[in-house]
Amino acid sequence: MIHEQTLVLIKPDAVQRQLIGEIIKRFEENQLKVCALKMIHPNEELAKKHYPLDEEWCKSAFEKTKKSAQEEKRTLGFSNHIEFGEILQNWLVNFITESPVIAIIIKGPNAINSVRDIVGATEPCKAISGTIRKDFASDESYEKANSVGRALRNLIHASDSIENAKREIQVWFKEHEVYEY
Ligand code: UDP
Ligand code: MG
Repeated sequence: MIHEQTLVLIKPDAVQRQLIGEIIKRFEENQLKVCALKMIHPNEELAKKHYPLDEEWCKSAFEKTKKSAQEEKRTLGFSNHIEFGEILQNWLVNFITESPVIAIIIKGPNAINSVRDIVGATEPCKAISGTIRKDFASDESYEKANSVGRALRNLIHASDSIENAKREIQVWFKEHEVYEY
């Protein structure tokens, strides 16, 4: 299996709720290794670098949110992915700059997908049992968050592809902060 690196952020809600240890434990007990780690209170500039307002990012988030609204027969008050992306980026910047986060590089076999499996679905109420989001944030949903104009408080960010992992790792870490052991 291919050894990959992925970027994990323990988001402000998880840090505030003192879940740092619980979360890191879930990765370590699944043969995944921490190879860089820091606590940082992101400013707006860093938050926007992490959540860039590009076509692909807007489209992917919009499609997921739209699908969930359609399945639940709710109306989503956004006409296109760009309009949605701009508003979502704002919500996420407000959230991620609220208080410190823990940025981690996790390494291991198939790390990108393994980490996302351990984290669970974006919408914690729909995540399966035994995942971090289900176990610690299960009453959170798109509906609840979107209806009051805020980001979903789902504890974790995890890279979703090799390209995004590479880009995100460079946003949060310098080369000399990453360890081999
Ligand atoms: N998000 C949100 N409302 C939405 C869609 C996304 O608040 O309608 C937030 C949520 O915190 C999510 C992040 O935006 O974790 C990034 O969205 P993505 O679809 O990439 O989910 P993830 O990769 O985190 O599961
Ligand atoms: Mg994502």
